Amino acid sequence: MSFSQRLREMLQRLSFKVQQFMVGRYGTDQFTLFLIIFSMVFTFLGNFRPMRFLYFIGVAIIFYGLFRTLSKNYEARRKELNWYLRWSEKPKAELKLFGNKLRDRNTHKYFKCKECKTVLRVPKNRGKIEITCPKCRAKVVKKT
Ligand SMILES: [Zn+2]
Repeated sequence: MSFSQRLREMLQRLSFKVQQFMVGRYGTDQFTLFLIIFSMVFTFLGNFRPMRFLYFIGVAIIFYGLFRTLSKNYEARRKELNWYLRWSEKPKAELKLFGNKLRDRNTHKYFKCKECKTVLRVPKNRGKIEITCPKCRAKVVKKT
């Protein structure tokens, strides 16, 4: 058997073993992905001397992510995921809005409806216009 054949066989055996090991285990989810990114940021910042402790927090977070991935307690992990999804909803929406504002900075203006807090997007440079909120029908005059 050639070396490459042997190597391929070894990798196949290894991936089979990994698969077997992962049977019944939770695996990864969005929360784990978030933990990985978070721990990468922390360990990176931990390289700078006054923030050394962040490195250890980063390592602790990655171990928590690993623990979740290998866990057999599906119910507890799902609870954590739901908690994370609820918690991250608002920052995610704000981040998206920030991106949209940046993308449309030359063409559109964004503002919140005073009544229902819906985010409205109107074209720029149309002078003073009256805008009707599509959600609550409140009217507002804005300079665009
Ligand atoms: Zn409204």
